[in-house]
Amino acid sequence: MSKPAIALDHLAKSFGNSVAVAGISMSVPAGEIFGFLGANGAGKTTTMRMLCGLAKPTSGTGQIAGHDIWRERYHIRSKFGYVAQKFSLYPDLTVVENLHFFGGAYQVSGKPLHKRIETLLRELDLEGKRTALAGSLSGGMRQMLAIACALIHEPAVVFLDEPTSGLDPVHRQQIWDLLYDLSSKGTTIFVTTHYMDEAERCTEVGFLHQGRLLAKETPLRLKQRFKGQLLEMQVEPVMDALIRLRSVPGVLGVALRSGRVRIYSKDSAALVAGWLQHWPFPELTWRGHEWVAPDMEDVFKAYSQGYSPILTTAEAPS
Ligand code: ATP
Repeated sequence: MSKPAIALDHLAKSFGNSVAVAGISMSVPAGEIFGFLGANGAGKTTTMRMLCGLAKPTSGTGQIAGHDIWRERYHIRSKFGYVAQKFSLYPDLTVVENLHFFGGAYQVSGKPLHKRIETLLRELDLEGKRTALAGSLSGGMRQMLAIACALIHEPAVVFLDEPTSGLDPVHRQQIWDLLYDLSSKGTTIFVTTHYMDEAERCTEVGFLHQGRLLAKETPLRLKQRFKGQLLEMQVEPVMDALIRLRSVPGVLGVALRSGRVRIYSKDSAALVAGWLQHWPFPELTWRGHEWVAPDMEDVFKAYSQGYSPILTTAEAPS
């Protein structure tokens, strides 16, 4: 079997007494779009920085294309591209000058560099901006340029830390089109995102909670981890309903979805049966309910809020 593009073996990182990454073991096959999910502070960036040789693991190991991420960190730098949350473009250089600079840093030069720059300018919609100073670009364009710079040496693996954060839907789509394109050519993508529609687009998703990898599966399998369907109630006034229903015994949590209240409970059917007998909220009008299929937002909520009674346990992530 071929080596995985990325492999982590009990990879851990602490800052003083505080554990940021609590020993992650998993692998990512080549060509995959792997989505790394988790709430703020879950440890995603720290994991990515260790993989990129920018932070020394406290314990455990990791490999990219079979090379150790720390011992061989200088050697493997040419094998991956990294787009950090706060990326380092040169604001006083033009778009093309930035690309030239990063080309030089990755030892790409001459004709291959010129060809590569033209391809990237075209693919990332930056042709019209080639002489614009990086500092004058909009947030979306700057992000496109940062991605272009990380791809200048045609790396086999690309790490992107929230690449679409703060972008409009058109630019988000453009970036995802590019990721699909790269993946279809065999590039492995390791991406963090807080957008659940983007998590749906990944071939596999890892869910990190307080430094621990709780699950690593396809989005479909993750959604199938829900026991049964979810209860969605039409109750008015909806804001009052949210407050009252979340404190009902047996309700783990509630969420507002398109004016309806989604209820997370181990036994929603029993709740409905009881409410049909007696609706205990005279100030709330129950207009109807339905059973809905969970989506990635529900998955995220269930994992990050620890709603384990409504999730079937996954096998140990690999
Ligand atoms: P976000 O979604 O907000 O970017 P994250 O999942 O990427 O969050 P990390 O940035 O990896 O999370 O942070 C994980 C934990 O490690 C947090 O508690 C954070 O405060 C801590 N941490 C990260 N970097 C450092 C550092 N250099 N020194 C001390 N603590 C740190």
